[in-house]
Amino acid sequence: MIIGEKLDLHNNPKRLLPNVYLHQAFNASRELLGNDGFVAVMKRADTILPGMGRYLDEENWPPADTELLVPARHYSAFFQAIEEVGGGRAQMVTIGIRTAQMGFEGLGPAMKATLSVLKRLPGFRWRAETVLKAMADDLMDVFPGDREKQAIRVETDDERRLFLFIDRTGDSCHGRNGAHSPICHVYRGAIIGAVKLATGKIPNVRESACMAAGDDACVFEVGFDAEETDET
Ligand SMILES: [Zn+2]
Repeated sequence: MIIGEKLDLHNNPKRLLPNVYLHQAFNASRELLGNDGFVAVMKRADTILPGMGRYLDEENWPPADTELLVPARHYSAFFQAIEEVGGGRAQMVTIGIRTAQMGFEGLGPAMKATLSVLKRLPGFRWRAETVLKAMADDLMDVFPGDREKQAIRVETDDERRLFLFIDRTGDSCHGRNGAHSPICHVYRGAIIGAVKLATGKIPNVRESACMAAGDDACVFEVGFDAEETDET
């Protein structure tokens, strides 16, 4: 697999994210952790990155728009705090799945166009590929310059029967280094959620490389076959 050269985004303090990223992450987390859980996470976040405590008050949340105003480190510090107060991987994946659902409520243009054709595609693999490409497309449109750099892209590995969702922005683990294994569980959940919404099935997704662990990209492997159906 060719990842491409490492981009100077993951540790760049000037990297900003759209308001809606934080807004949805807060919303999904509070919904799933409850208010007390959310408060505990935010207090922890304030010890990781002083100033985060301001988000305890919903009035200070970034609005659900796509203006680039949130330092990427706020986003990753929030997820780090969930981990540190004991949020397990499963819980973080669930938060990601929920943010994907919320994302679909305010769809980007590629996603919107895609969902209308999905029903005509035969089978899980093609639908999954289409939605992953649309997701990468919409994500890259948010950040000026990301498309030129091909910062996020989808590749196919026919031999291993999987798609590779390759993200060289490292936004979801922004500024975090020295991890021993991949840590972007919420992001993994968002990918699971997007594929599930497009296909009705839960895909197998594994993060095989992570910028927090020193890799050149966060790489998510999405299997051609679904794990189980949604009906169960
Ligand atoms: Zn990662």
